[in-house]
Amino acid sequence: MVEVNDMYYGLSQDAEIAESGECGGAVTSVLKFLLEEGIVDAVLAVKKGLDLYDAVPTLITDPDKVIESAGSLHCGTLNIGKTIVRYLDGAKDLKLAVTTKPCDAMTIVELMKRKQIERDNVVMIGVNCGGTLPPVKAREMVEKFYEIDPDMVIKEEIAKGKLIIETADNEEKEISIDDLEDEGYGRRTNCRRCENNIPRMSDIAMGNWGVIGPLAGKATFIEVFSEKGAEVLEKAIKAGALRVQDPVPKGVEIRANIDKTMVKLANKWQTRNFEDEGTLITIDQYMDEFSKCIKCYGCREACPLCFCRDCSIQSESNNWVEKGIIPPSPMFHFVRMLHMVDSCTNCGQCEEVCPSEIPLARIFHEINVKLQEEFDYKPGYDLEQKPPLSVTDKEPSEE
Ligand SMILES: Cc1cc2nc3c(=O)[nH]c(=O)nc-3n(C[C@H](O)[C@H](O)[C@H](O)COP(=O)(O)OP(=O)(O)OC[C@H]3O[C@@H](n4cnc5c(N)ncnc54)[C@H](O)[C@@H]3O)c2cc1C
Ligand code: SF4
Ligand code: SF4
Ligand code: SF4
Repeated sequence: MVEVNDMYYGLSQDAEIAESGECGGAVTSVLKFLLEEGIVDAVLAVKKGLDLYDAVPTLITDPDKVIESAGSLHCGTLNIGKTIVRYLDGAKDLKLAVTTKPCDAMTIVELMKRKQIERDNVVMIGVNCGGTLPPVKAREMVEKFYEIDPDMVIKEEIAKGKLIIETADNEEKEISIDDLEDEGYGRRTNCRRCENNIPRMSDIAMGNWGVIGPLAGKATFIEVFSEKGAEVLEKAIKAGALRVQDPVPKGVEIRANIDKTMVKLANKWQTRNFEDEGTLITIDQYMDEFSKCIKCYGCREACPLCFCRDCSIQSESNNWVEKGIIPPSPMFHFVRMLHMVDSCTNCGQCEEVCPSEIPLARIFHEINVKLQEEFDYKPGYDLEQKPPLSVTDKEPSEE
């Protein structure tokens, strides 16, 4: 019987999926099983678009099409939470299975707390994440540092502190992530600071860390995090969609150690960004940064936690901003911040879209980290823990 906290090596029992899957095809097999059995109405996954650098969110209802989403796309940050709210009506009338990197899963949990996504209707199939790459820069990086035609790449992987690139003619090249990032390439800047590698807030998390021995690269490491996840996995095993076996204890240890190393690295980046390079959240720095804002509202559109259709800063019915003027940008950002900064999951979407290149995610993340310390609140983990700026029973500080 599968239980919460169980760990396994999983192998797809479908030869085609095992072949197309990133490492074992367990994710694809579970998703296909959920659709086939009618446990979900649709799967929200990610598939390759034009090329490997183009990750496309896709809604699948035909079980035979799930295989098209097999494989990991390292350039994709897909704003999965916002997609569910905006285009799938928060899964209010749709049973949905969705693949979630940790920041996707955390965002979905925060949106569930705010009643924007229906918890009972969503199965979160988590994938571990060591970081994603911005697509245009990734192509440039492959050409400049790997000296490979970006169109020849068939697979990228982050392992043992290296970014490994594999080409169609079986060439494999690896370069240290640290070296790439020192040169301004490598992972997105928010990913460098991210300390959530295993999506423990999902129902199940799957990854390649910890699969050692003859199954390395051929099996998926599975960890179960909820009753829902245990039930789904047990049913999928019983139906013969995948086979599981106990992980090698050394593999479990290695996985935990890699996770710890990645958390340390993320903390190092947080210190570098928030302290060594100088805080951006003093009033002077804040005013300096936001004076560059051209008020396109792209950040608000992209932020998954800005879910209001009728933004209070622009709404006809609010008194926040005097009518007939363009709202001063620091005020706009201040109001937006008050609404959601306690739940910011450092997903990076706001910064990606800003035409003024304001380091928005870095600013919001820095404030969020301070709030985490002050209120002992970690966004995206515990559905029962309410965002502190919305609800708190903390006594005012005596200082
Ligand atoms: C960006 C990224 C970084 C990763 N980093 C690590 C890591 O450092 N350590 C580790 O142990 N595992 C990592 N993984 C997970 C690993 O690559 C495999 O996805 C996992 O082991 C499942 O293997 P599988 O063969 O069962 O997956 P498959 O059966 O091939 O299914 C993969 C699933 O991932 C989904 N997917 C692909 N790209 C994305 C994306 N960008 N965002 C959300 N979903 C996506 C697809 O929709 C598909 O359903 C990463 C995955 C991604 C996407
Ligand atoms: S923020 Fe974290 S979970 Fe999200 S893509 Fe970056 S490294 Fe992965
Ligand atoms: S403020 Fe930026 S980093 Fe934070 S949740 Fe919104 S889009 Fe993501
Ligand atoms: S995306 Fe940038 S320029 Fe546009 S409103 Fe946001 S901060 Fe201002």
